[in-house]
Amino acid sequence: MATTIDPKHALEASGETEPVWIHTDPRSRRPQFPTLNQNLKTDICVIGSGISGIQSAYELVKRGHEVVMVEARDILGGETDRTSGHLASALDDGYTEIAKKHGDKGAQLAADSHSWAIGHVGDIASELGIDCEFRRLPAYEVSQYDRNKQPKEHNDEVKELKAEVAKAQSLKIDAEYREGFTVKGWDGEPDQRDAGVYYNQGTFHPTKYL
Ligand SMILES: Cc1cc2nc3c(=O)[nH]c(=O)nc-3n(C[C@H](O)[C@H](O)[C@H](O)COP(=O)(O)OP(=O)(O)OC[C@H]3O[C@@H](n4cnc5c(N)ncnc54)[C@H](O)[C@@H]3O)c2cc1C
Repeated sequence: MATTIDPKHALEASGETEPVWIHTDPRSRRPQFPTLNQNLKTDICVIGSGISGIQSAYELVKRGHEVVMVEARDILGGETDRTSGHLASALDDGYTEIAKKHGDKGAQLAADSHSWAIGHVGDIASELGIDCEFRRLPAYEVSQYDRNKQPKEHNDEVKELKAEVAKAQSLKIDAEYREGFTVKGWDGEPDQRDAGVYYNQGTFHPTKYL
């Protein structure tokens, strides 16, 4: 049976289907704010109440600035509502690519800032007593190809994983390549053993945190 989505849903959230974590933090619990119907004067206006907007507004207010945040939909109605909440210094774009575009200094900056930011979220959560399930955990990067059925593709990708781990290590990210490593709970098909492992990553419940 097709699911009927209320057209007004788009005003609350950016996606068509609901993320599973909405069940542990329903939108009805989020604070409501009045519609902006008058002109305001402020030091800083932040547009959008996703993680970028709210975290920036928090940092600015903490430093004594007057901030107004405006949001077109409901608060946290954008992509932040849908993230799986992994706080990573193991970046999707890869340090090998980042260094090609921005040099080793640029890659170091990306590594340092992302590593710092993971800890900063944890620090804020404990400082303000936010029960957002923040915890440290490793990240695993595995080949998308089956080790036995597509050995060439698997080996080619493993070469890239190894190069990425070496680059990350050169930037002082705690990472290692582990031959034959099996991700716990994922030991069936496809056989994706071998992994780049990145330690000291983080995860949290983003909407509870924000
Ligand atoms: C399925 C999925 C999984 C993900 N997993 C991860 C992950 O594990 N780790 C990770 O780091 N990232 C992840 N991401 C990416 C991450 O969710 C986004 O990068 C992040 O949430 C973007 O935050 P933002 O505040 O920049 O944008 P948004 O959360 O989209 O916030 C922007 C806000 O601005 C508002 N807005 C836009 N234009 C205007 C306007 N003109 N006036 C007023 N308001 C406006 C929007 O309504 C919205 O609320 C994932 C994304 C998806 C979809």
